[in-house]
Amino acid sequence: MQKYTMIPERLLAEGTITTENFFAPKRLSEEEILTTHTADYWQQLKTQTLPRKEARAIGFEMTSELVERGRYIAHATYECALYAQQYGVAMNVAGGTHHAFADHGEGFCVFNDVCIASNLLLNRGQVQRILIVDLDVHQGNGNASIMADEPRVFVFSMHGAKNYPFRKQLSDLDIELDNDTGDAEYLQILEVTLPRLINKFAPDMIFYQSAVDVLATDKLGKLSLTIEGCKARDEFVLQQAKAANIPVAIVMGGGYSEDIEDVIEAHCNTFRLAQQLFFSELIE
Ligand SMILES: [Zn+2]
Repeated sequence: MQKYTMIPERLLAEGTITTENFFAPKRLSEEEILTTHTADYWQQLKTQTLPRKEARAIGFEMTSELVERGRYIAHATYECALYAQQYGVAMNVAGGTHHAFADHGEGFCVFNDVCIASNLLLNRGQVQRILIVDLDVHQGNGNASIMADEPRVFVFSMHGAKNYPFRKQLSDLDIELDNDTGDAEYLQILEVTLPRLINKFAPDMIFYQSAVDVLATDKLGKLSLTIEGCKARDEFVLQQAKAANIPVAIVMGGGYSEDIEDVIEAHCNTFRLAQQLFFSELIE
């Protein structure tokens, strides 16, 4: 939880961003929640009557504050997509709650922000085809399940084969990596896969889950990327989006290294790269 305040502070302190780069998101309405989540699940969240077993699967103590926080974060992801249409890229300083299903939450995820944002964009005719590039070490099982019958959303998840969730869902493309997969192999797979997907599916919006739980230092993730490898990964994804002129909205996802500095540094790199690749000519 600490990272959500430390990352913006770090980026401001070092001058990567200024306060003008922030927006304050609106709160997701009930109607917006119901584009993606079931009425039963929403009622349980709203009235704080989630069965104890289901609350345990989420892993946080269920409070109305947690639900409120989730509503703002999910709407922020939607707003990021709109800002990305305007500026090329926009980033949520949270989000990426890809383990939330339509009818239940799990793995620290209550609402599925990327799926909600996707449904809103499609329903409102703001985009036609969405590519989700989920490079969190954990499979985006919620995304896969929610978007299973939605041909306008392509879910690509590259994750640790031996990582949670142990029963995986079927995405449009799943790439499962062995334990201890390192920079070279990881980047090579990404470099052959992503351009092909962009070419074939021709999205007009990309959601990129830039989680840093792929790091070797991560306590939960079983892969072995270095901070430099993780940065090269982000750079490749952002360059691909930029070169193809596709707006990219970035959500943070997980990161659980023992030393929080590793988490902060790797996440901040994503913001630094976005600044460099999309806005540096404005600064010069
Ligand atoms: Zn994760």
